[in-house]
Amino acid sequence: MVDKKLIDILACPACKGDVFEDKGSIECKECGRQYPVVDDIPVMLVDEAKMPENKKNEENE
Ligand SMILES: [Zn+2]
Repeated sequence: MVDKKLIDILACPACKGDVFEDKGSIECKECGRQYPVVDDIPVMLVDEAKMPENKKNEENE
């Protein structure tokens, strides 16, 4: 479980959007990237993020 105060101050490194915790990962509300959580520490790296399939097309436009 990630500290909620920590989530509040985190922002997506790709789009600076707000993030929230979802099923043990951190998800961006804006672009939908999912960041892994390792030992309760969110890994806020674009290179580590998973991009949802249905959002990839928007990114390319
Ligand atoms: Zn984002």
